[in-house]
Amino acid sequence: MGPRSEPGPVDLHTHTTFSDGLFLPEDLVAEAKNRNLSGVAITDHDSVGAIDRAVAAGKQHGVEVVPGVEMSCNADGVDVHMLGYYIDHQAQDVLDFFENVRFHREERARKMIEKLKELDVKVPLERVMAAAQGGSVGRPHVAQAMVEAGAVPNVEQAFRRYISYEGPAYVPKMKLTPGEAIGFIKQHKGIAVIAHPATYRNDNAVYTAIAAGVDGIEVWHPDHGPRETSHYKEIAQKNRLLMTGGSDCHGGRKYNHVFLGEIPIPYRYLAALKRRSRAIRS
Ligand code: AMP
Ligand code: ZN
Ligand code: FE
Ligand code: FE
Repeated sequence: MGPRSEPGPVDLHTHTTFSDGLFLPEDLVAEAKNRNLSGVAITDHDSVGAIDRAVAAGKQHGVEVVPGVEMSCNADGVDVHMLGYYIDHQAQDVLDFFENVRFHREERARKMIEKLKELDVKVPLERVMAAAQGGSVGRPHVAQAMVEAGAVPNVEQAFRRYISYEGPAYVPKMKLTPGEAIGFIKQHKGIAVIAHPATYRNDNAVYTAIAAGVDGIEVWHPDHGPRETSHYKEIAQKNRLLMTGGSDCHGGRKYNHVFLGEIPIPYRYLAALKRRSRAIRS
């Protein structure tokens, strides 16, 4: 890197073992370094537990670690994910909030196990909880336990036959609206970005989020094709919103592929995110 050139690319969407990723926070950061990323955001589902460990590892490796979280919301029956960057993740009410969500997710896992039992699929709760390793328990962990129990040949089949949205053992999560998530993120000095908008049925959630004061749109994501990418870039520009992107790395849980850094985001988008963060804190 020359003296005046900007730092290398970043990845602003990743998961660790604190939700459904397979990398420990330290290993994710080390892998980011291997892949020549200058920065990586930790955005676990409904958990900020990995952030401090990742930040410490980032100092060792010379990788800029961006604190983040991916909150689960629901808008008119559609699951919507809201990214929150730079929230005060050590604040007690933030920790309490996510502890409460963790509790709800555990209750939900129990309910899914009950439904599976009625379908003659026996999955021990202990195996699900072991798969979650104390992090945000979700369907990927239920699926993993189903595979381990021999109920399905693989995770894909677990989703397809039982726990996809339409599946007979699906149980919805607690209902938080995108507006509430945005409010929570902003209340704790964070930047709210609607995640992978192309994965929702239509753009209603995007416009709801814009009306609720969302700060940005995730434009680059593995589930976005070139058309979607330019579509959301246009919406972001029209509404003067920040643009972010990332690999949504789950450390190989999805398709046995790591994905980290494969959607390289130019550093200037992180720089813009940081400028916004500094502006709302000053
Ligand atoms: P949850 O938050 O518990 O509803 O789980 C959602 C997570 O499950 C997503 O973030 C994905 O990582 C994963 N997931 C959703 N659908 C599938 C699928 N068909 N195959 C594998 N993983 C999936
Ligand atoms: Zn996930
Ligand atoms: Fe997501
Ligand atoms: Fe994600």
